Amino acid sequence: MSFLIQTQQLTKYYSNGKVKALHELDLEVKEGEVFGYIGPNGAGKTTTIRLLLDLIRPTKGTAKIFGLDINQKSVIIKRDLGFLPGEIYLQENITGKQCINYFAGFKKEKADKKYLKHLLDRFGLDIDKKIKDYSKGNKQKLAIVLAFMHKPRLLILDEPTSGLDPLNQQEFYSLIKSVKADGATVLLSTHLLFEAEKVCDRVGIIKDGKLLAIEKIDDFREKNIRIINLEVGETIPLESLKSIKGIRKVTRTTTGYNLVSSGKNGQVIKELARFGADDFKINEPSLEDIFLHFYK
Ligand code: ATP
Repeated sequence: MSFLIQTQQLTKYYSNGKVKALHELDLEVKEGEVFGYIGPNGAGKTTTIRLLLDLIRPTKGTAKIFGLDINQKSVIIKRDLGFLPGEIYLQENITGKQCINYFAGFKKEKADKKYLKHLLDRFGLDIDKKIKDYSKGNKQKLAIVLAFMHKPRLLILDEPTSGLDPLNQQEFYSLIKSVKADGATVLLSTHLLFEAEKVCDRVGIIKDGKLLAIEKIDDFREKNIRIINLEVGETIPLESLKSIKGIRKVTRTTTGYNLVSSGKNGQVIKELARFGADDFKINEPSLEDIFLHFYK
């Protein structure tokens, strides 16, 4: 099996070592997989990506992309890599088309015109407009097109769906699936759990600059953390709720209880009904809930 990205003890401290943005990261991304890099704001995702792109240099540690050192061979690496930055800065006074032509010059392969048209149609992007007249979402779409248009072997995408409306988000997910089917490898950072569950094969969970776990997405899904809001006043004793298998935490609210459950919900729901709870809401957890209950 070959790894397209390998990092060893990759570390970045800012402000004379006061900010430990990334600490001794050991990460391997396999050829052909979609790897999700999940973490809350400030976790170190962008720092990792900027290191991989050789936009900043590590405090210590090394990394390889395509088996090549990221600092010594960054020019060669970038010829077969598609990159979507978290913050997009494009020259404002040119059209989308001029921008595409400009970026086309940097890559190994010329962008296939048919594929480019396919990408533009997918996202309904008008490239005759000047970039300064693009909305935030349209700038994001243009940046996606720039990252994908050469059919790169590896895509590194920092929060790729930020600024996209739900329809275009879905379009983006289907694009990821189709490039994966064509053999591309993807590393994408996100703080959205459903996004990772939708497109990733494996996820790395990062917080405070440390990689806490790497999970296959199916194992991650099996944890199936849910937040259940019960509106029952205090008719059910707290201890009874705590005793239900699959319930990890119970807290009182003004109108009832908040329960954190994990695993299969069927038994939990049966037990709740047995205790007389006939009205409840089941919600997706936040990233913080997941960290709190699994990766403390
Ligand atoms: P977000 O989802 O908010 O973009 P992130 O996971 O990408 O977060 P990073 O941007 O990598 O996180 O930031 C990691 C930590 O490093 C944060 O505490 C951030 O404030 C800090 N940091 C990032 N860049 C610098 C810098 N140039 N100088 C000092 N501290 C920095």
